Amino acid sequence: MLLEVRDLQVEFRTRDGVARAVNGVTCSVRAGETLAVLGESGSGKSVTAQAIMGILDSPPGRITGGEILFKGQDLLKLKEEQRRGIRGAGMAMIFQDALSALNPVLSVGEQLGEMFVVHRGMSKRDAHARAVELMDRVRIPAAAERVGQYPHQFSGGMRQRIMIAMAMALEPDLIIADEPTTALDVTVQAQVMELLAELQRELDMGLILITHDLGVVADVADRIAVMYAGRIIETAPVHEIYKAPAHPYTRGLLDSIPRLDQKGQELYAIKGLPPNLMRIPPGCPFNPRCPRARDLCRTDLPPLERVSADRRSACHFWKETVDAAR
Ligand code: ADP
Ligand code: MG
Repeated sequence: MLLEVRDLQVEFRTRDGVARAVNGVTCSVRAGETLAVLGESGSGKSVTAQAIMGILDSPPGRITGGEILFKGQDLLKLKEEQRRGIRGAGMAMIFQDALSALNPVLSVGEQLGEMFVVHRGMSKRDAHARAVELMDRVRIPAAAERVGQYPHQFSGGMRQRIMIAMAMALEPDLIIADEPTTALDVTVQAQVMELLAELQRELDMGLILITHDLGVVADVADRIAVMYAGRIIETAPVHEIYKAPAHPYTRGLLDSIPRLDQKGQELYAIKGLPPNLMRIPPGCPFNPRCPRARDLCRTDLPPLERVSADRRSACHFWKETVDAAR
């Protein structure tokens, strides 16, 4: 297994109280596999990614439990220096906002080249050549002429391609892309997503694709993990989740996807709001919004339980939701 996260817990201690952002996340990614992580804003997706990458905002964030095994090695037991070695060469991250992730005062060629100078001990001249190659590879037109330009001179879509180039520069085994296309126009979104999926296949990288857009997931992901209030509440192969979700929250997310054949109809939306992470309700955290909730759901936290070989659901009554889809 490339990555195994076991019972990960992260909290933020702030003046207003303790926000329990990640509450026992367990998931895994195989080499060459794409895992899509879905969930509404505030469900703990980015914090989980930051904990895996070792870039958690700490303090106020703190990992309070769990293990993160990368190729069998528990990252939480490593020294910061060792983790720095893994970042870039072992795993890399693509952020939503390229403009703030890239350095504004260095040309894109310098930033791309620096990866090879620092990690591979290349000369500046060789690194420069590699930077142009990388820009070609992510299909930035006229790469040789544009390599000396600064991030702000590129369009949003092109900047996102540069960040993808940075992430894959050292051909890491795992890439975490945190809402990589959210800030882009719809047509550009599709192109960038296609590029990412293509490179992932070519380099046989593991990919964690964080998104709140269930629409993009079907084409690119192998498996889906759905997060709610800092937990994974369902995980399954993509086609199985689309056919018959095993959690009412996943059902709600699926029903909220705009469909071309239902133009004009009002879009379904899950009622209510996700819980405040400083006051997660007892029982199932989704119970106040759940159309199927009953007494047990208000008192007992459902464990992430086996539905079939490759499927898990954290719903006491998952069977009802599966049966209703049939
Ligand atoms: P998302 O699923 O939208 O990516 P996040 O993982 O970013 O959600 O955040 C989950 C929760 O973690 C937030 O709602 C907030 O309560 C808490 N959190 C995240 N970052 C910070 C921070 N820097 N300081 C305090 N709390 C934070
Ligand atoms: Mg986020």
